[in-house]
Amino acid sequence: MKSINTKVEQFKESIFSTMTKLALENKAINLSQGFPDFDGPKWVIDLAIQALNNNKNQYAPSMGILPLREAIANNYKKIYQMPVNPLTEVVVTNGATEAIFCTCLALLNPGDEVVVLEPFYDSYLASIELTGARIVPVTLHAPTFNFDFNELKNAIGPKTKLLILNNPHNPTGKVFTDEEIDTIGKLAIEHDFYLLSDEVYEFLNFVRPHRPTASYAGLNTRTITISSTGKTFGLTGWKIGWAIGPEYIIKAIHNVHQFSTFCVAHPLQVAMAEAISNMEDYLKEFKHEYSRKKDILVTGLKKCGFNIIEPQGTYFVMAQLPAGENDVDYCKRLITEKKVATIPTSAFYLKSEDGKKMIRFCFAKKDETLESAILNLSNK
Ligand code: PMP
Ligand code: GLN
Repeated sequence: MKSINTKVEQFKESIFSTMTKLALENKAINLSQGFPDFDGPKWVIDLAIQALNNNKNQYAPSMGILPLREAIANNYKKIYQMPVNPLTEVVVTNGATEAIFCTCLALLNPGDEVVVLEPFYDSYLASIELTGARIVPVTLHAPTFNFDFNELKNAIGPKTKLLILNNPHNPTGKVFTDEEIDTIGKLAIEHDFYLLSDEVYEFLNFVRPHRPTASYAGLNTRTITISSTGKTFGLTGWKIGWAIGPEYIIKAIHNVHQFSTFCVAHPLQVAMAEAISNMEDYLKEFKHEYSRKKDILVTGLKKCGFNIIEPQGTYFVMAQLPAGENDVDYCKRLITEKKVATIPTSAFYLKSEDGKKMIRFCFAKKDETLESAILNLSNK
């Protein structure tokens, strides 16, 4: 038999699938993969049931239904004072993951370079590699997860086409400062590259209101903003996401989207259009709840003796391991001996060895799940 695609041959199982599988096999409490162990809001689920019963079951328009694109655009205007044309500057995708994939395929040619701040979400590498472009990692150094300006500058060259920024940042919980984004933005303008800003945790920012990268001076013409409703509504299985950007880029992203999936589940788009048009009160409660869950996990882990790096955003907490420990072995021991599953963070790094010294916990879980995990971890 002839071989399969040589790039795809290199892909390994996603660390999230691996750890969730191990959690199930070992009957461990799953604080690894980032998804809630409770259902999304009933009022949003009811909207989807209504749409299913209301003849919204055929293909949706490939760009996304207009009411959803309008609702997305209205929110960017209302929340961030960022003007977005719903007709030409938004495309609805199957989650942020498809938006990232389509953006890479739409922008990159073989030989292009993409700067990615590590640790990074695993789909970036696969999406970049399939285009024949080269990933150039720049490390966010623990425990502050700041980047070194010279390291970043040295990673940029004439072939740099794109830089991927994730803010708030998975897995570190970092929220980038205005100065950091301005620094990255100035380099993007000076060296003429695009920015892909993955903002799926935009409403899980515990230190300040979120600011999209595209809203910083001079960056709206070169930034593709990607987000989704998976985290915001605790409905990760719905996979409603989008890319926002200049018309010619959105057209290119849509060209990939129309030949990869064509469109996104129609009834779920109808429900989301309504949900995100009326989410103000929900969002206040949402942020409050997750802030509370963060405190339960952070306090509990500290009591168990973990060296925690307090997150500023997302629903993850990083812990630094004692000297001599290794993340993969440590996670295996936590699963088998303490019955708690976490993520070994070396999976998020290409260059630095820092990941071997940390593990990631997820707090998007019921209070009783978090409490049981803490109890297990505190048992000698
Ligand atoms: N980006 C980041 C940083 C993520 O953590 C995730 C995973 N939840 C995604 C993108 C993917 O989002 P979606 O589920 O909407 O595809
Ligand atoms: N983003 C989630 C996490 O970081 C997982 C997404 C997935 O499993 N693909 O855990």
